[in-house]
Amino acid sequence: MEDCIFCKIIKKEIPSKIVYEDEEVIAFNDINPATPIHILVVPKKHIETLLEVTQEDNTLISHIYQTINKIAKENGFAENGFRIIANCGKDSGQEVMHIHFHILAGKKLGDKIVD
Ligand code: AMP
Ligand code: ZN
Repeated sequence: MEDCIFCKIIKKEIPSKIVYEDEEVIAFNDINPATPIHILVVPKKHIETLLEVTQEDNTLISHIYQTINKIAKENGFAENGFRIIANCGKDSGQEVMHIHFHILAGKKLGDKIVD
């Protein structure tokens, strides 16, 4: 947890461009955007992978999706649409071992979800 880059962003030990924050979640711009709008929504609770999500996290996961909706509406891309990606484990290419939800928006996305 001490070495977790997203925990450091949550603790403001390293800078990020914060889009939204409350007691449970933080959302900030991806440092290496894949689309014109690329925001990461991250729970403040350190959960390594989606495999560790349990019933205890029901409210949190619901809150994450409501946060995504709020960000989409407040940043003007709700109407045009967006894609959510959450990687889990090595075949997905998960780099940061603290669960996060990519919001990809700002252009017409490809028809293929994976290459
Ligand atoms: P994933 O491959 O799903 O684990 O995605 C990790 C994402 O975190 C990548 O899209 C990175 O560009 C992004 N990322 C890594 N470090 C930072 C950082 N310091 N600030 C913002 N985004 C970051
Ligand atoms: Zn963490």
